[in-house]
Amino acid sequence: MNLILLGPPGAGKGTQAKLLIKKYRIPQISTGDILRAAVKDMTPMGGKAKSFMDAGALVPDEVVVGIIQERLNLADCSNGFILDGFPRTVAQADALAKVLSGLGRSIDHVISIVVDNEELLERVTGRRTCRNCGKGFHVSFDPPKSPGICDECAGELYQRDDDREDTMRKRLEVYEQQTSPLVEYYKNKSLLRSVQGIGSIEEIQQKIVSILQG
Ligand code: AMP
Repeated sequence: MNLILLGPPGAGKGTQAKLLIKKYRIPQISTGDILRAAVKDMTPMGGKAKSFMDAGALVPDEVVVGIIQERLNLADCSNGFILDGFPRTVAQADALAKVLSGLGRSIDHVISIVVDNEELLERVTGRRTCRNCGKGFHVSFDPPKSPGICDECAGELYQRDDDREDTMRKRLEVYEQQTSPLVEYYKNKSLLRSVQGIGSIEEIQQKIVSILQG
């Protein structure tokens, strides 16, 4: 199953992808995670991407398309994959179709997770992540037992620079202008299904699974 999760930052794409990879045994491919790892490791690609990410802007298409091209060729994608945070522009979607067609494959489903902007702002600005194990928390909705400390490994919790309110507002603008045209794009290809991203994680997962099992 070749799946795209589409939706603004904070819609829950990553959370839902993590549940789907367990159920379907296919990898999650998050360009955001790959770029953050490159920044942390100070690779040349990370160096190129950092200023765009810190500003809440999109990293140039050729960088992310290169990442995806390499990643989709790896053996663990042979039974399918979940794209989380890619594509984010029409040019990326066209490039993806080309890469997949070269592999004799295509997208099976695009799930758009819909959440309104006020809710997204509250979710994202309260998000905290463990520096050590990567586990996610939320200061109001899913707080750690001790503030600032990971329940799992006692690592330090931090806020992503791009989760601060001004950067998040910019990311929402970028989503509206550059990524939301993909809703029409995939609708026109009869691939798009939308789910409301409000409710418990399990409820949203159930809605997605019932679409996939269609
Ligand atoms: P995410 O974790 O998916 O919200 O991505 C964090 C940041 O990484 C975004 O705000 C962009 O700066 C960059 N990024 C991730 N995926 C893409 C993409 N497909 N195209 C361009 N930039 C991306």
